Amino acid sequence: MPLIERIEITHLLPCLADPDKIRFHAQVSGDLTEALPYLNAVLKGAIYNPAVPALTFNHGERIICLRGRLITCAKAEDAEDARAVCDYLRDLVNQTWERRGEITPCHEQRNRLTPIDIYRLLPRNNCRRCGLPTCLAFAAAVAAYQRNIVQCGPLFTPEWEEHRRLLCQLLADAGHEVPGGFAS
Ligand code: SF4
Repeated sequence: MPLIERIEITHLLPCLADPDKIRFHAQVSGDLTEALPYLNAVLKGAIYNPAVPALTFNHGERIICLRGRLITCAKAEDAEDARAVCDYLRDLVNQTWERRGEITPCHEQRNRLTPIDIYRLLPRNNCRRCGLPTCLAFAAAVAAYQRNIVQCGPLFTPEWEEHRRLLCQLLADAGHEVPGGFAS
């Protein structure tokens, strides 16, 4: 029997992070708690908080949190997108739960990359080629999934090769998109 049979969207609200987007709350027919460590094992870059317990992760730009029978999502496009996100979550949770015998559950608490983690590996010359006034502002935008590391031109010059390799690996491990061939 699938863990999730139904997901009912209960609230559609303005998004606090982006005025052009929405956030929503939804109720799930089954309790997700036992599935969270399995999802934590399969979702790159997810943040698991065993104390709640809750799992937070990104789906594109959307920020999703699963807790008990509750789903919250920020930065969805509109009501239609909210429904599509619910369908995606139903399939993700049910397929992961069905395969749980093959998955080693992960109870580790992983932390999101901070802007400082990213900033330390940038050229730090505030040249503005990325369109932002400082490298720290760019690091914050990358950490928030609003910019991609490829927008820092100086980082992709031979001089910064070692930093670029380390940063791409760090970002890939945390579930960010990195340009092909740079994360290994
Ligand atoms: S392009 Fe790179 S080096 Fe230049 S300001 Fe942006 S992040 Fe800093």
